[in-house]
Amino acid sequence: MKVPLLDLKSQYKTIKNDVLKVVEEIFESQYFILGPRVEALEKEIAGYCRTHYAVGVSSGTDALLISLMAADIGHQAGVITTPYTFFATAGAIVRTGARPVFVDIDPDTYNISPECIDRVIADMSEEERAGIKAIMPVHLYGQCADMQSILKIAKKYNLIVIEDAAQAIGAEHNVMRAGAMGDFGCFSFFPSKNLGAFGDGGIVTTNSKALCDKLRILRGHGGSPKYYHKVIGGNFRLDALQAAIVSIKLSHLDNWTKARQENARKYREFFADAGLEDIIKLPLEKENRHIYNQFVISLKEKRDELRLFLNDAKIGTEIYYPVPLHLQECLSYLNYKKDDFPAAEYAASHTLALPIYPELSDDQQGYVVEKIKELVTL
Ligand SMILES: *Cc1c(COP(=O)(O)O)cnc(C)c1O
Repeated sequence: MKVPLLDLKSQYKTIKNDVLKVVEEIFESQYFILGPRVEALEKEIAGYCRTHYAVGVSSGTDALLISLMAADIGHQAGVITTPYTFFATAGAIVRTGARPVFVDIDPDTYNISPECIDRVIADMSEEERAGIKAIMPVHLYGQCADMQSILKIAKKYNLIVIEDAAQAIGAEHNVMRAGAMGDFGCFSFFPSKNLGAFGDGGIVTTNSKALCDKLRILRGHGGSPKYYHKVIGGNFRLDALQAAIVSIKLSHLDNWTKARQENARKYREFFADAGLEDIIKLPLEKENRHIYNQFVISLKEKRDELRLFLNDAKIGTEIYYPVPLHLQECLSYLNYKKDDFPAAEYAASHTLALPIYPELSDDQQGYVVEKIKELVTL
């Protein structure tokens, strides 16, 4: 049996007719950049995320970058974030001239730990503290960070909050949706996200009219009106084609999310039936709506061996992420060292993402658990 990590072809079959129709319409119109399709998607996403506004952009990475720019995160500013995330989170911070200030994660959810944020700020000198401008939590694998605690800290120190919600569209913390809690919510339409385009794309949500206006201006090189530049922006525009395809997919998103949640439930059942609960640590659901962009298990030992074994059994897996950001070569100038963030480092060397996509069958899930049992009980 073959179990890929993700199977976008079977999803495509279910929306193919709608996609081809809209693609043809756009080809006929020869209207490719921004425009009514993007505006329609912005309204739909704002509605879905329960925010007042959304601004379509070129990627999730650019969503982070343009948000930092709109927040005026200037040179030398510090931005608190997690070392256990996709590189774009810290990359965007550095590209604005700011400095990532890493803090460790909660070992159960893999999300940034509010206690660690509190501690790092408390340990700073008055001057260092004044240089911290923002917190960028990441809702990793589709589960929100502990935003209630994070927002409290942000309020106390007057910090801007930029949610990296690239993996978490529709995820909830209490009754709030990802992207609706901070000053900005940054989403990615990279094909492997739960709501993926047919190429690159992203969107920023916000409840602030002023920030929304700023984002729109920055998206087109900072021109307002066109060709008159008070600020420097970039080309952060979203394509009409991508927007139209994402709109079509958005109407299926809740069903796909339900299927992912159901698959997560089934994995729990299969792992329990296999008697593996003590050997394999399953994802802990702390928040009320986990959307399972990834289903990530943790093993005390044999992670890399298991990955090779599953690969031989034609089961796709991935390590998100093998090197925590504080140990990345290009960030060595920040002077972090090994053992600075033990929970992040442990996760990087002990976790493995299993297939969880909506179209996964019971037989496939059973086969995955059976193969894992075969290796770990060897
Ligand atoms: C995917 C992702 C991004 C970047 O999104 P792109 O659309 O690929 O640029 C940023 N942060 C996180 C946590 C992601 O998973």
